[in-house]
Amino acid sequence: MQVSVKKSDKEKLILEGFVTIIAGPCAIESWEQLDTIAGIVKKSGLNFLRGGAFKPRTSPYSFQGLEHQGLELLNEVGRKYGLKTVTEVTEAETVEETAKYVDVLQIGTRNMSNFALLKKVGKVAHEQNKTVILKRGWASTIKEWLLAVEYISSAGDVEIVLCERGIRTFEPYTRFTLDLSAVPVIKKLSKLPIIIDPSHAVGQSDLVIPMSRAAIAVGADGLIVEIHNEPEKALCDGQQSLDEKQTKEMLHQVEYIAKFFGKMIR
Ligand code: PEP
Ligand code: MN
Repeated sequence: MQVSVKKSDKEKLILEGFVTIIAGPCAIESWEQLDTIAGIVKKSGLNFLRGGAFKPRTSPYSFQGLEHQGLELLNEVGRKYGLKTVTEVTEAETVEETAKYVDVLQIGTRNMSNFALLKKVGKVAHEQNKTVILKRGWASTIKEWLLAVEYISSAGDVEIVLCERGIRTFEPYTRFTLDLSAVPVIKKLSKLPIIIDPSHAVGQSDLVIPMSRAAIAVGADGLIVEIHNEPEKALCDGQQSLDEKQTKEMLHQVEYIAKFFGKMIR
C-alpha cells in the first residue's frame, strides 16, 4: 500500500500572504524555447513554470503537443531553474506517468466533468503529494464545479486549487467571458483557493494585463498566464501570450495591487 506524503506549507501552490503567479508557454515546443521562457520566469522571481505536453486542441489538425518528450523537457528545465512545474493531464491512462515528471496536475476546461479522470487525478495526487488545479468547464456552473472538486478529494487529502478561465457567453469579441464574480462567490461558498487564467479567457495579449490586475483586485489567490519568448512564432496560443516586456509590466502592475492586500507576489 502506498502511503501519502503530506505537503509542507512551503511546497504548496497557494500560500497565505502571497499571490502565486504561474507562467510559461501554452505548449512545450523545444528545449531552447522552454529554457528561454523558464529563464524569464526565474528572473521575474516566480516559482512555477507551466507548459503543455498533451494539448487538448479544438481542431485535430492543430499541434497536439510533444507528449512524453514534453514531460521530460519540463522536468529537466524545471530542475535546472529550481522551478516547480505545472502541466495538464487529459487522460486517466497518462496521469501516473505525468505525475512522475511534474509537481502540479492541471485539469483543463474540457475535462472538468470527466469524472474518471478526476478520480484518477485525486488518487495519484494524494499518493504522490501533487497539487491539482481544476479549471472551470466553460459551460459549467459554480455548483457543478464545486461538485467536481469532490471527485478529486474523495481519494483523500490533496491541495486543490480552482481556476476560472472564462465561460461561454453570447459575446464573441473575447475568446470567452472571464467570470470574475466567481472569485468572491467561491470565497463565500468554500475555503478553496482560486486563481485566474486571463490568457484563455480573453484570447488577446493586450487584454491580459488589465484582466490580471482585475483578478488580483477581486481577491484571486493567483494567476496562470501564458508567456512566450517569441509569441509570433508560438505553435499554440501565441496571440494571447505575453512577451518578456509585457510579462514584466504585468508583474509590476499585479505587484502593486497585491500590496494593497498586504500580499507579495511569488
Ligand atoms: C491550458 O491551460 O493550456 C488550456 C488548454 O486551458 P483551458 O483548459 O482553460 O482551455
Ligand atoms: Mn493555451
